[in-house]
Amino acid sequence: MHTDDYTPEIQHAARLLREGKLVAFPTETVYGLGADATNPAAIRRVFHVKGRPSSNPLIVHVPSFTELLRYIDFSRSKDPALLHNRLKALEHFWPGPLSVVAPRVREICADSCAGGDTVALRIPRHDMALQLLALSQTPIAAPSANPSMYISPTTAQHVRDNLGDLVDYVLDGGACDVGLESTVVSLLDEIPTILRPGAITASMLETALGCKVKDFAPRDDADISPLLSPGMLEKHYSPNTPVILRDKLDNATPLPTRVGVIRFSDTTEPLNTEAIKILSRSGDLSEIAANLFAALRDLDQMNLDMIIVDTCEPVGLGAAIMDRLLRASKR
Ligand code: AMP
Ligand code: MG
Repeated sequence: MHTDDYTPEIQHAARLLREGKLVAFPTETVYGLGADATNPAAIRRVFHVKGRPSSNPLIVHVPSFTELLRYIDFSRSKDPALLHNRLKALEHFWPGPLSVVAPRVREICADSCAGGDTVALRIPRHDMALQLLALSQTPIAAPSANPSMYISPTTAQHVRDNLGDLVDYVLDGGACDVGLESTVVSLLDEIPTILRPGAITASMLETALGCKVKDFAPRDDADISPLLSPGMLEKHYSPNTPVILRDKLDNATPLPTRVGVIRFSDTTEPLNTEAIKILSRSGDLSEIAANLFAALRDLDQMNLDMIIVDTCEPVGLGAAIMDRLLRASKR
């Protein structure tokens, strides 16, 4: 495509990224806060704007599989041929909500990888994002475009609400369709390891790779530590209002007066509460995932004493949903 074939908004956003500025842009997972991954000053600003600990690495976004391979240093892999085969086996998931961790080339600055030797890479499944990445002609580090610890943004308005003038430009692509952050899988060792569950599930990865994958995502409070990756913070995705999981509710304790409720499916049960969000009529996990963060945000603005959220089986996409909710309910 020629530069003139891109919309003026994408041309503007790409120009800003090349100048080392910060541009929030839509992906299929959540909105990203983008910066040139080869520009240490731009990357340091991302950490500053988010209030993100410098020990928490960023995911680097690229527009194609060829570009993804280009930023991996195979010579520093324990088994370069195996790594290459595994990436080929995962290729069909891209563009899509999957990030892979592998040794990085020097061109990706150390700051975007929290000083480490490895990089998380992905190709987002969103036309605007892909066009922006293609036109920018540089790998773009993009963590979720929210203050560290708060709920990830799934609309451009969420980004403006949280970051306002701290970002140089927000590219508006409507609501994100997956609504949860990408699956992160490490390919550094012989056994691939899921560092963060997402819409690409463990069983999808096992089928594609033809081997077992380890799952380091916490299942309950007990196995959260030790942290494998610097990014695996216990408390995360948290509204300011306390979040209680419905299956942890103790019926003996009286509820506070102003309670918000998030239900996973339609319910006829009379609910005597201030605010109710029904994420899906039918209990569909994809709909629940897509609507979860916006519901948490909306209720968080209502000055409630507590938000009670439904739970689901931590299997498939349910594992990603419960991972976020366990962290959101950490105090
Ligand atoms: P965010 O972009 O805010 O959704 O967070 C990105 C997450 O990806 C981090 O919190 C880490 O869990 C993970 N990640 C990114 N880069 C690496 C890496 N090099 N090694 C391990 N995990 C990583
Ligand atoms: Mg994040």
